[in-house]
Amino acid sequence: MEMGLLKKLFNQHAAPFREAHVRRFLEAELQRLGIPHFVDPVGNLVLGADSAKAYRSKVTKKSTEPVRFFIAHMDHPGFHGVRWVDKRRLAVKWYGGSPTKDLEGARVWLADLHTVFGSAVLRRAKLTKSGRSIDTAEVVLGPQLAKLPLPDAKSLYGGLSFRAPLWSAGTRLYTKVADDLCGVYCIVSLAKQLYRSGKGHPNFLGILTRAEEVGFIGTIGHLELGWLKGARRPLINVNLEASRTLPGAEIGKGPIVRLGDRLTVFDPGGIRVLTELAQKTLKGRYQRRIMDGGACEASAVTAYGMRAIGISVPLGNYHNQNFEGGPDARAALGPAPEFVDKRDLQGMLKLCGALMQSGLPWETAWKQTALSFKKSLSTYRVQMRGGFSLDSE
Ligand SMILES: [Zn+2]
Repeated sequence: MEMGLLKKLFNQHAAPFREAHVRRFLEAELQRLGIPHFVDPVGNLVLGADSAKAYRSKVTKKSTEPVRFFIAHMDHPGFHGVRWVDKRRLAVKWYGGSPTKDLEGARVWLADLHTVFGSAVLRRAKLTKSGRSIDTAEVVLGPQLAKLPLPDAKSLYGGLSFRAPLWSAGTRLYTKVADDLCGVYCIVSLAKQLYRSGKGHPNFLGILTRAEEVGFIGTIGHLELGWLKGARRPLINVNLEASRTLPGAEIGKGPIVRLGDRLTVFDPGGIRVLTELAQKTLKGRYQRRIMDGGACEASAVTAYGMRAIGISVPLGNYHNQNFEGGPDARAALGPAPEFVDKRDLQGMLKLCGALMQSGLPWETAWKQTALSFKKSLSTYRVQMRGGFSLDSE
């Protein structure tokens, strides 16, 4: 695994609708690596094409090979500044999931689109009506930050902060954001492999989206552009996530072939292909289940009529909420760093690479099974003939 890229990426800060730091870092990285990319009109970062025109021509080129349409999101739950209560206190509105207990005095980072200013603390947090996440709070600056000429309240945003943006302990990675920088890391690493030779890759598109945490807004914006209409080849969405660990989807036991999310199940043919690839490439070190601890962009894509599959790395302390404990965790359900296992992340990347193989049976995934079912029928032909009706015996 490329710790250099991982470290630099996980050092970037983002909240829903405020993904500029992550995106700017990635654009520079992609530029340096010679990977074609561009920003779509809603602000998502597209990989595998350098313009809307190149994207359209990839999708409308006649082929039996599907475009593997990878999606991961750049944002993570966090807050936006609303107004200055006084010189040191910023009233904020929270977007996305969050811890719900032990919030008073929790450490947060504060940034605007240009600068990350450092840390501050959370006070007077109020939860939403459902009680499932923060609604509003105040962010109180320490004396150091209060001395700086800080900008307009509305240009500020932030999120929960811990001892470091990323640190490892054994095979575990602890971080302020694994959801979904893990997915972003995999797509960029995959593109790097695919474009290493300097040639293009005809079957790859990646979209790094905005504002997933408030309901897939970047993905919906992208689909509404209508760029996938008139496709002359199949499209398979591969959704990459870090998803809340559940029984049967345990941290360190391999990436998860995601059968569905809280909203829907995914494409049965695609899942079949993915499962067989996982069997071959990961030699049993993978897991398989419906990850219904949350919904993901594969659901949005499914609603728009596209086939979708998903791969997840099991995630500890989902949305920085202390479910599983560990270093820097506050009280139960309070703030805590998210964590994943490096080996699960490696497995996900390996599986992404395998999905790019040509000639996979995307359209005929069930053919062999149907043939063996047919064989079973003929095996029992004799038995079937008798015992059907007592009268005719
Ligand atoms: Zn996510």
